[in-house]
Amino acid sequence: MASTSIESRLTELRRLLQAASYAYYALDAPTMEDAVYDRLYRELVSLEAAHPHLISPDSPTQRVGEKPVERFNAVAHRIPLYSLENAFDLADLHAWDERWRRLEPDVPKQIEYVTELKIDGSALALTYENGLLVRGVTRGDGVRGEDITPNARTIRAIPLRLNLAHPPAWIEVRGEAFLGLDIFAQINREREEAGDALFANPRNAAAGTLRQLDSRIVAQRQLDFFAYTLHISEETSDLSLPSTQWQSLALLQKIGFRVNPNRECCASLPDVETYYRDWSLRRLDLPYLTDGVVIKLNDLDLQSQLGFTQKAPRWAIAWKYPPEEAPTQVKNIAVSVGRTGALTPVAELAPVQLAGTTVSRATLHNRDRIAELDVWIGDTVVVRKAGEIIPEVVRVLKELRPAEAKPFEMPTHCPVCGEIAVQPTDEAVTRCVNSLCPAILKGALVHWVSRGAMDIDGMGEKIVDRSIEQGLIHSVADLYTLTAEQFVNLERMGRRSAEKLMKAIDASKTRPWSRVLYGLGLRHVGSVTAQALAEAFLSVEQLGKAEVDEISAVYGIGPEIAQSVYEWFRLPPNQTLVMQLKAAGLQLSAERAHPDGPQPLAGKTFVITGTLPTLKREEAKALIERAGGKVTGSVSKKTDFLLLGEEAGSKLEKAQALGIPQLSEEQFFTLLSRKAML
Ligand code: NAD
Repeated sequence: MASTSIESRLTELRRLLQAASYAYYALDAPTMEDAVYDRLYRELVSLEAAHPHLISPDSPTQRVGEKPVERFNAVAHRIPLYSLENAFDLADLHAWDERWRRLEPDVPKQIEYVTELKIDGSALALTYENGLLVRGVTRGDGVRGEDITPNARTIRAIPLRLNLAHPPAWIEVRGEAFLGLDIFAQINREREEAGDALFANPRNAAAGTLRQLDSRIVAQRQLDFFAYTLHISEETSDLSLPSTQWQSLALLQKIGFRVNPNRECCASLPDVETYYRDWSLRRLDLPYLTDGVVIKLNDLDLQSQLGFTQKAPRWAIAWKYPPEEAPTQVKNIAVSVGRTGALTPVAELAPVQLAGTTVSRATLHNRDRIAELDVWIGDTVVVRKAGEIIPEVVRVLKELRPAEAKPFEMPTHCPVCGEIAVQPTDEAVTRCVNSLCPAILKGALVHWVSRGAMDIDGMGEKIVDRSIEQGLIHSVADLYTLTAEQFVNLERMGRRSAEKLMKAIDASKTRPWSRVLYGLGLRHVGSVTAQALAEAFLSVEQLGKAEVDEISAVYGIGPEIAQSVYEWFRLPPNQTLVMQLKAAGLQLSAERAHPDGPQPLAGKTFVITGTLPTLKREEAKALIERAGGKVTGSVSKKTDFLLLGEEAGSKLEKAQALGIPQLSEEQFFTLLSRKAML
């Protein structure tokens, strides 16, 4: 970067960070996600490290928090109440350890570290004189904080008088004031009802509450407090000076404070790492928010020898847990075409670590969502991935949009087949409606051969792809015209495998009408719906002729499904497909099974256990009940069948002990269809 552009980037970063920091600390109303703040902050740190002569004293890297606001009295801290340096991975932790060791080279390798959960609240320094609480001060800019004593007095976890018969002249206790998650949710509910702006997170809510002018409101808000630092003026007959952080924590508890119980004294950095990993999930069950682990050198003498940098103690570090949100750049926006022809825009991202996994793609859902986000190729966006949820783009950081960014438009044509894509006015989805589109055909075929549908073993995605590419298959029905020879040529497949595949294709002709219907992949028609429709309409002709209201009259079928089924049968390519499948010998009709005819599973009692390959538990239950059977929760002598999925538990053992027959999902389907044919 040229020096002028470095200077302007530095200015830009400082401006952005300062504005965010003011909103965060002084107004308790953040305007930026923490992860975005942290990333910009790190960029500033590394630019300043490379160009130290450009560091300005007002840079956010040179100071902590914000100056006390005027509505409170500013009070100087006896010892700086600074922030903490951050580690984002194990390497950062080791780098910190090496850094302080360079300043104290004589310290032995084997020392103790105390690990504490990093509570996501607001720091508070409490002064006790002769055992009585006289002052409560916020962190402020680390040197001077705000005197909020009346508010500190309302916090139940803060004793007004220490539990000491002979207190020292003064004691200073530091800790975190925070709000439990329940209370936080309740406060925001009340604010919503009152039409007030909501707090962004429990931390800002805690900081905002501490700095309320009206202590009665503070009292209602039920702040909590965990103490973590103890400074004492002198030893007394019932309080000896601690020599370690571990002892300090025990003493704090003894003199009347709440101390977080989830702490540990670790003998090495690998033990610290174990603690960190151990709490990465456990912390999610806690009734308050934590965002990392604070690691402190246990030896207090060593702590005071090391002292502070401009912003943080050298003897401690906060190892943060990976965020669920992070900023990253959109490299491209691709469009994928699904089985139903829906065109889904997908952001291709510069890889980013989120909730412990690397994310490089995130869905942008549809054209409405793109318009709402106003996302351009080249933009920096905030991506979120919580738990198992598919990563998604949450917002665009428009202030970081580069000059070369390009807006994105949903294609007017299908990117796979090139045909015009339709944009129904009542739907946000853009759709390819060309039934010959290879993407739709591929999706349709993969669904057709899947286990819950025709269950054609050996017809993997690769073979599906190659058959379409080579022009062997233009519709699902073409599958029934292929020869073993063609498969051998296609995949360089062994003759025996090809013959096996031919047999599997042939066997699919015996699958019942309900599964053929499911395999056709009509929109909104899952396996249970297909079963219901196949029972109500005993042949494809009956269903094809049915009006919307006749279809929606079937129990469990809503108007949307009925409309979709009706429309499907009106399209000529679908009518042709049905004829071809009939000619190929597939089952497109069945005998009546329910509700008027014989119920194939009447009088039979089932227990379902484990995860079934295609059916959800409620779906299996619905199928059994519709066929006249009963489902119970536990195995007994009265159980007729155990429907068995993967990772079955004690029910399987009990069924084995009682000699109750077990059925796989596959066998269950056979049972349903065989009986249905009787
Ligand atoms: P920090 O929150 O990363 O860590 C320091 C604080 O941790 C201490 O002051 C103390 O209050 C707290 N803490 C909790 N448990 C502790 C324990 N057991 N022992 C010691 N301390 C403990 O640092 P910070 O300076 O308070 O805040 C910086 C962070 O705030 C940034 O990383 C950023 O994510 C966020 N921030 C966000 C914005 C924004 O616009 N979103 C603006 C400014 C700062």
